[in-house]
Amino acid sequence: MEDKIKYSNLVSNKDKTNKDKNLKVDLLGLSKSELVNILIKHRLPKFRANQLWNWIYRSGVSNFNQMSNISKDLQRNLSEIFFISRPLIASSQISDDGTIKWLLKLNDGNEIETVWIPDNKRGTLCISSQVGCTLTCKFCHTGTQRLVRNLTSAEIVGQVMLVMDELNDWPSASENRYLTSIVLMGMGEPLYNYENVKTALEIIMDHAGISLSRRRITLSTSGIIPEIEKCGKDLGVNLAISLHATDDKLRDQLVPINKKYNIKQLLEAVRSYATISNARRVTWEYVMLKGVNDNIKDAKNLVNLIKGIPSKINLIPFNEWPCAPYKCSNSLEINNFAKIIMKAGYASPIRTPRGRDVMAACGQLKSLSKIIKKVDRKNTNSIEKLN
Ligand code: SAH
Ligand code: SF4
Repeated sequence: MEDKIKYSNLVSNKDKTNKDKNLKVDLLGLSKSELVNILIKHRLPKFRANQLWNWIYRSGVSNFNQMSNISKDLQRNLSEIFFISRPLIASSQISDDGTIKWLLKLNDGNEIETVWIPDNKRGTLCISSQVGCTLTCKFCHTGTQRLVRNLTSAEIVGQVMLVMDELNDWPSASENRYLTSIVLMGMGEPLYNYENVKTALEIIMDHAGISLSRRRITLSTSGIIPEIEKCGKDLGVNLAISLHATDDKLRDQLVPINKKYNIKQLLEAVRSYATISNARRVTWEYVMLKGVNDNIKDAKNLVNLIKGIPSKINLIPFNEWPCAPYKCSNSLEINNFAKIIMKAGYASPIRTPRGRDVMAACGQLKSLSKIIKKVDRKNTNSIEKLN
């Protein structure tokens, strides 16, 4: 595996620029019907859509010159009108446990983070859906970032494409593929950027391209009720709910969106998601905060709340970040909590924090562009120093 990853390329495309591409149309992130329409608009035959799709998402090609079943003339024509984007790598860090965090620079200069979590010969990619997040969950570093915008579908699917480039994981859908699952647990609330997330996931799941099944994709949400239902109907991916508290009083504080969509409404939405999407089970994420939500009584309440819903509870040791207002529960408390849940018949894995040393673990993500700019704009190594 290691030899296949082009480590030397970890910051390889840093100097490339998308400036000259501004006048061209990006084909990445277009749905199939959008791709057909744009070809028609440029008086190109629509059967080319399948060919292009195949090159882009099955072979990972981002240069029209490499599309060998397309004539040289047409290749030239296509490259005059279109381009196939990739986010640029601003920097990368490898954790002692093999986790790799990439800081990616978008066309407008904003930055996002993408995290590769290897597990033996396979791995999971944790992708971002927004720059920052408008929801201010008290324990989450991303939520403290002021600058927020939705990622485009190209920027969402681009994270997957870029990492597959880095892993040398093309053509896609091979039996030995490295990237075998995706979690939307990076920066942002995916259901606040639903349309772009939907388009990106449809592209990622498409059988003629990257072809990752919906069972291999997990969308994590803090509980945006109207979109949970849509997501069940449209996508049917695995659903993870960031619960973190078992009563509205505490959840209002920890996950402020609870004031709009409370626990009762959330439970109803999850119940119907399970029916609509035919999902096997829902994952409940529960961050362990010392002295806040880690009591035995909380564990018992949790079990009562989810009664009747096929569930798995993911206990997440709180990942600390500078000036965080909480501490992580100690292992005895976490284990006692897990015991109550397991006794009630639910799987209750305690998530091993990955990439903590490079601030790549859950909730630690926050692009450091502003801080870096203050320290030394030219020296990208300052990221390592700051962390
Ligand atoms: N916005 C979505 C997805 C991104 S956050 C959501 O909230 O679900 C992904 C997961 O990391 C969520 O369960 C979130 O609650 C959790 N998380 C956030 N900050 C954390 C921290 N500091 N330590 C551990 N988990 C954290
Ligand atoms: Fe946003 Fe999720 Fe962080 Fe809450 S936990 S601030 S919803 S990214």
